[in-house]
Amino acid sequence: MLGPVILAASRSDRMRRLISAAPVTKQVVDRFIPGEDVDDIVPVVQGLAERGLELTMDVVGEDITNPAQAAAARDSYLELIDRLKPLELGTRAEMSVKLSMFGQALAGGHELALSNVRPVVEAAAEIGTTVTLDAEDHTTLDSMFAIHEELRKDFPQTGCVIQAYLFRTEADARRLAANGSRVRLVKGAYKEPASVAYLDKHEIDRAYVRILRTLMQGEGYPMIGSHDPRLIAIGQELAHQAGRKLDEYEFQMLYGIRGEEQSRLAAEGHRMRVYTAYGTDWYGYFMRRLAEKPANLRFFARSMLTK
Ligand code: FAD
Repeated sequence: MLGPVILAASRSDRMRRLISAAPVTKQVVDRFIPGEDVDDIVPVVQGLAERGLELTMDVVGEDITNPAQAAAARDSYLELIDRLKPLELGTRAEMSVKLSMFGQALAGGHELALSNVRPVVEAAAEIGTTVTLDAEDHTTLDSMFAIHEELRKDFPQTGCVIQAYLFRTEADARRLAANGSRVRLVKGAYKEPASVAYLDKHEIDRAYVRILRTLMQGEGYPMIGSHDPRLIAIGQELAHQAGRKLDEYEFQMLYGIRGEEQSRLAAEGHRMRVYTAYGTDWYGYFMRRLAEKPANLRFFARSMLTK
């Protein structure tokens, strides 16, 4: 029951100010977001890569209000890519981007987001890596998929994310599996109405399995974005049934969640990519992590009370 309340708070400016100003918030935030700027994050990238893990990097931020902020978001990714260049990690360190941060919700936002994300995709390709477009709330997805298709004309490795909780996703998965796309499948992290999404956990899990089967049997590259032990085991079985080799799909988890499981899968020879977010505008990202697991909120509340 707490999840939807926290997700509602994630869109509230008043809660943003209250929580961001609390002195202990930072300690809890650090578990999920290991740095505020690019200098903090380069050693984290090196450390994860040395442990045999791959990365997808997210400069946190969303809900921007003007085109200058969208351009600044683009520039922060360009700076990151520039700093990753000497590490020569290739696709072992790719980028994840939220189109809202590139201006998608502003006037003329579709074109603005496309024009801001394209240079990031180009710069990533120059250092031998790729970009994946994150999925945000359901109202943004037609634009996201259209931008994905447009980018794939020049950069076919550009990936996108689909969310198992949405009714539309089975059809999206069939289309993307047939056209050979890289696709990350997640359960979905936004507050969605019952008119567009499954709200029941078991229904979401069942949809996840159906969609993953479609991706595994298709022509594309499935990326299993989940910490759920059951879905990870099913993912391995579906990959096996589809005759996929270990480098023909991958697992993805978030930084700070189930680190031992990440190492275990990598040690077994799986491609294991860690979604690593950094930056100062961490509020929305952090609140979605709290909403996913009530124990995180209890930990957060306890640290505030004992301070
Ligand atoms: P759950 O059933 O939620 O969790 C399974 C188990 O994992 C839990 O029992 C717990 O042990 C652990 N766990 C899960 N979440 C947490 C947490 N926050 N803190 C501590 N433990 C936890 N969603 C989007 O809507 N759009 C995206 O673009 C997107 N990108 C993602 C990228 C990656 C790599 C991943 C892993 C997730 C992404 N998500 C995205 C979030 C996703 O939609 C889910 O909200 C999130 O992954 C939790 O679902 P789960 O599959 O891990 O299963």
